[in-house]
Amino acid sequence: MNYKAPRGTHDIFGETALGLNLLEQKAKEIFIRHGFEEVRTPMFEEAALFARSIGQATDIVEKEMYVFEDKKKRKFALRPEGTTSLARAFVEHRMDISSPACKFFYLGEMFRYERPQAGRYRQFRQIGAEIYASSSPAADAEIIILAREVLSSLDIDKINIHINSLGCGKCRPFFREALVEYFSSVEDLCEECLRRLEKNPLRLLDCKIDSCKLTDLPKMLDYLCHDCKDNFYMVQFLLKKASCNFTVNGKLVRGLDYYTRTVFEVRSDAVGSQDAIAAGGRYDNLIKEIGGQNTPAVGFAVGAERVLLAAQSVGFFKNLKSPEKIFVAIADQEFFSEAFAFAVKITRDGINGNKDISVFGPINGKSLTNQLKFANKIHVSKVIVFAKTEFENGKVLIKNMKDKKQTEIELNKL
Ligand code: ATP
Ligand code: MG
Repeated sequence: MNYKAPRGTHDIFGETALGLNLLEQKAKEIFIRHGFEEVRTPMFEEAALFARSIGQATDIVEKEMYVFEDKKKRKFALRPEGTTSLARAFVEHRMDISSPACKFFYLGEMFRYERPQAGRYRQFRQIGAEIYASSSPAADAEIIILAREVLSSLDIDKINIHINSLGCGKCRPFFREALVEYFSSVEDLCEECLRRLEKNPLRLLDCKIDSCKLTDLPKMLDYLCHDCKDNFYMVQFLLKKASCNFTVNGKLVRGLDYYTRTVFEVRSDAVGSQDAIAAGGRYDNLIKEIGGQNTPAVGFAVGAERVLLAAQSVGFFKNLKSPEKIFVAIADQEFFSEAFAFAVKITRDGINGNKDISVFGPINGKSLTNQLKFANKIHVSKVIVFAKTEFENGKVLIKNMKDKKQTEIELNKL
């Protein structure tokens, strides 16, 4: 076959599919315990919406978006992240009225045209949560703790949480100015940084090229206004109270322009160079920017693929208990329909109340030996055999595949 999945995308099956389901299930449970409600948004939106929210001069909008025209020449983009779509839905449906707690979560595919490598794909999944209408530092702390809990549910406990404050509309311009002044006198800036200097100076802090990585940079924390300082202090205080470890990293910036005040990134040594497994922060101006009421907000997203890589490296999947596999076999072809109906029944009701089972068989037209060979191949633990003599006495044989012991049991006792 000459067809392959598009570059940067992958088919999810086997252990990865199991892992993804489990991660999504655990995350949902945690979100619901914290009072969050699910929102599913479309996978594409008007391209202008993302440009407006994420920022025209960001890598995501400039280079990474999948933009296309529909038949009526309208410009759409596959969503590169979830926060923007959720914010649009929040404003469009006045969700502050229908869900006054204003806590929402989402999970789903995101699309970015990036150079694919381990942990970096063109289609990937994010699981995220957002709290609207609260400017309290407790919301920031809760979001960071949520990210930690989601990771911890897959045994990913060795993480570093980096936090920073990017200030607000009052104090950030002074920092911006200091950055521009500082970098204007630096020689050897890469081409990209020269552009950043003009368009988006904060991104200068995020350059991966050595000559642009400088040590004695101005720090946002030195420029925070009184309110932002208080706020950042309180976030840290609450995190400490809740025994959530973190590192203050004055160089941390995010690749999206909408962030204000708290930003954070969760890193794990377990996933190689793409070590950011979750990220987020506060974005107090976004809702207003896209046409809503003045609504402060804070949120985060984990990258599901990177989380699964981390979970794999800490051996999480080895300890998973899978359902008991049971095979229903027939020694005599004439019992096929009886065995079939029995398999349907136990699949629905379980065996002796145990519903944590996977049921296979019966197979029509194959000898018992062949059926047992198949049962072995798929590693079943028990085979229930419908055979003439036993069945006429209302019984079936149960073969334990581990110790090969065979017992008889009355059908109506199963
Ligand atoms: P990075 O610095 O690694 O490019 P980012 O700052 O672009 O990450 P965000 O937009 O904040 O990432 O997205 C949140 C999380 O989504 C990241 O921490 C990461 O785990 C995941 N993520 C982002 N881009 C990709 C991608 N292309 N493939 C897989 N996961 C991704
Ligand atoms: Mg990126």
